[in-house]
Amino acid sequence: MRPHVSTPAHRTAGMAELVCSNSLKSESVHTAPWLLKQELRRAGSLLLACADEAAVPGGQALAVDRDRFSAAVERALAAEPRIRIVRREALELPAAPVAILATGPLTAPPLAAALARLTGREHLYFYDAISPIVEADSVNRDVAYAASRYGKGDAGDGDYWNCPLDREQYHRFRDALLAAPSYPLRAFEEPRYFEACLPLEELARRGPETLRFGPMKPVGLPDPRTGRPPYAVVQLRRETLRADSFNLVGFQNHLRFADQAAVLRLIPGLEQAHFLRFGQVHRNSYLQAPAVLDATLRLRACPGLFVAGQLCGTEGYVEAIATGFLAGVFAAAAAGGASVPPPPRATALGSLAHYIAHGPLPDYAPANISFDLLPPLPVPERDRALRHQRQCEAALAAFAAWLPQTAVAPALCALP
Ligand SMILES: Cc1cc2nc3c(=O)[nH]c(=O)nc-3n(C[C@H](O)[C@H](O)[C@H](O)COP(=O)(O)OP(=O)(O)OC[C@H]3O[C@@H](n4cnc5c(N)ncnc54)[C@H](O)[C@@H]3O)c2cc1C
Repeated sequence: MRPHVSTPAHRTAGMAELVCSNSLKSESVHTAPWLLKQELRRAGSLLLACADEAAVPGGQALAVDRDRFSAAVERALAAEPRIRIVRREALELPAAPVAILATGPLTAPPLAAALARLTGREHLYFYDAISPIVEADSVNRDVAYAASRYGKGDAGDGDYWNCPLDREQYHRFRDALLAAPSYPLRAFEEPRYFEACLPLEELARRGPETLRFGPMKPVGLPDPRTGRPPYAVVQLRRETLRADSFNLVGFQNHLRFADQAAVLRLIPGLEQAHFLRFGQVHRNSYLQAPAVLDATLRLRACPGLFVAGQLCGTEGYVEAIATGFLAGVFAAAAAGGASVPPPPRATALGSLAHYIAHGPLPDYAPANISFDLLPPLPVPERDRALRHQRQCEAALAAFAAWLPQTAVAPALCALP
């Protein structure tokens, strides 16, 4: 629809405009973002070829010149005789028997309303308040203790871990939280917080005890070492599909990532925490994917309509490229009356598709690729680097076995 209608974040008329950072994340071998890019490269991803062409020095990351990247994408699409480019705001869902919706986190309001009518308003989020996620291995379990509030649930298996704070630690944490800089809100991100998911720093500002009576409430959580509840507690909840990680319950916040890490590491037990996701609060349209999409990114309520990018419940440029690739394969196959199975769960692409179809409800939040989305190795490996290397090797082998099945899609696409 750009340049006739823009979004509050885009600045140009260019295709594939990167709205914020120019990084397509790590190129370090055997990291999760590397794995996702490797799979896409092996599948012949046009967008990654454009990114490689537009690459600029970025240390361990694939950084691109955003104008050259956008121009390369535009050139490639304009040169494809089977693609017709129409620059127009879509006000309604496509009527074509097979279509892909990829209008992003800032989907224009009329189309978002049409989508909400189809899926049910409760399944389309417009605003995001997400809590940080830490890698399970990086939590010091000599300090944190397993317990669910009033002994409910399955704490025996470590569904909940609790980081105890004494009075002094609590006030030091609150002071640091109040002193830490937040991301400036843009005009379209004016705070319209729901009371139920107020950012942590906003709660802290309300009074010295507010956190202790809110997300850091210790009642019903006695520390087994003392038999008494601590002064305050930070509760870590195991992620349903991410057994190797914990969510900091009620810790959504808007702090800058570097400062956020420093503040959260003041929590006893999290001194060495490795964050897989930081807390965020921002405008963001995305579907409550597991309630409405299947693992081929198809809307259950409208099986010819596939959803890709941020709207289907992933987060990040490369994840948007990845789900765009998948939706393209599935839609092209569907257009020819064929089908392609989702990539195996052991792959990065398959893990994203699996998370989209089976992620936690009702608290679904868009995911970046990370190792905790991949299944654990059949034989556990304690060494982190070795574990990740083996997961990558298994993923690439499974991906190589799946890839030939996609041949059906381009072949059908090429039919008159
Ligand atoms: C402010 C902001 C900053 C972000 N920064 C980063 C970052 O630094 N790094 C990162 O990895 N991820 C970032 N993200 C997350 C997100 O992954 C990226 O925005 C990513 O570009 C999403 O890709 P997409 O293809 O889903 O949507 P987009 O890249 O937004 O593409 C959607 C396109 O659809 C168009 N459109 C919308 N509505 C309509 C309509 N009704 N009719 C026709 N066209 C329409 C839009 O103009 C846009 O061109 C950011 C998100 C936001 C909102």
